[in-house]
Amino acid sequence: MVVTRFAPSPTGRLHVGNIRTALHNFLFARKNGGTFILRIDDTDRERSTAEFDQAIRDDLEWMGLTADQVVRQSERFDLYERQFERLKAAGRVYACYETAEELELRRKVLLGRGLPPVYERQPADASVPEGRAPHWRFRLDHEAPITWTDLIRGSQRFDPKLLSDPVVRREDGSWLYLLPSVIDDVDLGITHVVRGEDHVSNSAAQTQMFDALGAKPPQFAHEALLVAAEGKLSKRLGSYGVEHLRAEGVEPMALLSLLARIGTSQPIEPAASVDELAAGFDFSTFGRAPAHFDPKDVETLNAKLLHHASYAEVANAILLDVSEKDFDLLRGNISRLSDLEGWLPVLDGDIEPPELSHDERLLVKEAAGISERLDWSAEPWRALTEELKRTSGKKGRELFHPLRLALTGRESGPEMAGLVARMGRDRAVRRLEDAAKR
Ligand code: GLU
Repeated sequence: MVVTRFAPSPTGRLHVGNIRTALHNFLFARKNGGTFILRIDDTDRERSTAEFDQAIRDDLEWMGLTADQVVRQSERFDLYERQFERLKAAGRVYACYETAEELELRRKVLLGRGLPPVYERQPADASVPEGRAPHWRFRLDHEAPITWTDLIRGSQRFDPKLLSDPVVRREDGSWLYLLPSVIDDVDLGITHVVRGEDHVSNSAAQTQMFDALGAKPPQFAHEALLVAAEGKLSKRLGSYGVEHLRAEGVEPMALLSLLARIGTSQPIEPAASVDELAAGFDFSTFGRAPAHFDPKDVETLNAKLLHHASYAEVANAILLDVSEKDFDLLRGNISRLSDLEGWLPVLDGDIEPPELSHDERLLVKEAAGISERLDWSAEPWRALTEELKRTSGKKGRELFHPLRLALTGRESGPEMAGLVARMGRDRAVRRLEDAAKR
């Protein structure tokens, strides 16, 4: 049985970086018929907010990455306390009294001597400074190297002597991330921890915490980081999330299709559903190099998805009143749903008449005259262009381009036959006449 978890801190909205982590946890669980848990890491009571907690859940829901179970660290302090006492009794956590300044000074001294700046344990009989509350460290076992086979990075090996005993609890009793995370992973039966490679050295220490709690460490998959195509994940991309997609009318599947495959050896293709993505999900295809994220790729995938989507699939996401017939007419020319807005006036609103040359104006004037007499219920575009070809002697672009400009105000767009039939005779004649006047 596979159990994964996505563990964001509710101190901000989700963005492409952590959406990708959420997605991979979701897909791996889905592929293996397992469970996907959302763990809200809200031990930091100052920075965590109920609003971000809600927004994270809403965003995951909107993308179709719904968790099978939601847990909140702030509701699990009793469990942490019990396990902490156990580790303390076993001598695996111990009290420390150094101030931040003292530690920083030792660090500089060690570095100055060309030594690794590893925390130096105090002798057991060292005096306890008066009136100072302790913070707590986890005692790493220095005996054997720490090893695991990472599902993405392969064989990993750390010398525990080169790692500092990590601080797990502050003077004021508040928790740092490392230990509660392990306690939860044990308690929730997490089988696979999938997260960014910035956590690799945490995993080294955490592996020993699993052992100390009498549990087998889960399997780890540390993914290479996501960087912006132009550099490191910029502030702008840090705010590239669901809010942005919704505002732009971008389908969640466009982003998910990209995030599922970016940085892997598999081709990036538009997928219609998360199940489709889950079917092909495979850690062994993940590369070790940072993955380059370019928002333009999301747009491209979105355009492809829209060109193939059925109206039923997107109807909910269209924020405007657009009929199925109109959507079918326009979809080939939009790369996001919000682009529909710009096309609606072409169908039944007003457009800005284009600037045409003298010859073009004569041509559209003639077209207006022909249009007036046409039966619009048959095939008005074909009838109009065939007659105009005969009367004007023009053909090809010389014939079609001024008509498209006059009738739509645009250089390019959907098939004229569909547009012309949809806009109706009166509107077509008026536009041709307006363009002829200019
Ligand atoms: N809250 C941690 C983070 O966002 C979770 C890391 C983990 O997956 O264990 O970095």
